[in-house]
Amino acid sequence: MWAVRRGQLCRALWGSQAPAAFSRPRSAEPGSLPVPRCWSCGIPLPARGGQGLPRFCPACQALQPPESQPDLFRLMGCDRSFNISVQQLQQRFRSLQRSLHPDYFSQRPQKERDFSEQHSSLVNRAYQTLLSPLRRGLYLLELNGVELAKGTDSDIDVEFLKEIMEINETLAELNNEAKIEEIESFIEVKQEELTKDVSKAFERVLCFISDDLQEAKKLLAKMKYFENLEDKVKSKKNPS
Ligand SMILES: [Zn+2]
Repeated sequence: MWAVRRGQLCRALWGSQAPAAFSRPRSAEPGSLPVPRCWSCGIPLPARGGQGLPRFCPACQALQPPESQPDLFRLMGCDRSFNISVQQLQQRFRSLQRSLHPDYFSQRPQKERDFSEQHSSLVNRAYQTLLSPLRRGLYLLELNGVELAKGTDSDIDVEFLKEIMEINETLAELNNEAKIEEIESFIEVKQEELTKDVSKAFERVLCFISDDLQEAKKLLAKMKYFENLEDKVKSKKNPS
């Protein structure tokens, strides 16, 4: 309880500023990179600022290519945190989609149309990644150099694996729609619980109560098991 209240306090204190554990180190000192220039008219482009938005040349208005390794949180206008505002994410997604609409680029050179497509698919990927709690959590781990390796069963308790196996078996034998929906709701509840636990685990790191992301990693691995079950339920309900 104390941890939760302290978490809220930390969030209020930190606001949008994440401590070092959540910030990616700079890869190079400013000045060591060549100044980017507009691909169309060649003028040096001003610094990006903190927005991560698709950039247009201030002189000729040409859309510039996307960054090679963009921060998806920054692109979508969210704090680098597990707890994001889905409403804010959706608003940003819609506004980016509008500004990258193919109609705006239909009279532009092929190169610019290609860039607008690259931006669009990046925006879609960013939206899907941040919208799903599982993908958002995994991306946060990735930004902090922690990866969910394949075959991580050893990190997960036997009881949990048994539970998953039992659901799998039940599901394989079931052909009763009502029972399948029962399992579906059960998985949904489990995912909601795990999402809350992941959120607390990230918050503990953010507030220096814990110094590693292993707890979040373990919980996300469990969410992945339930996601596999979700896929099985879907294909059971709509066999193709
Ligand atoms: Zn230009």
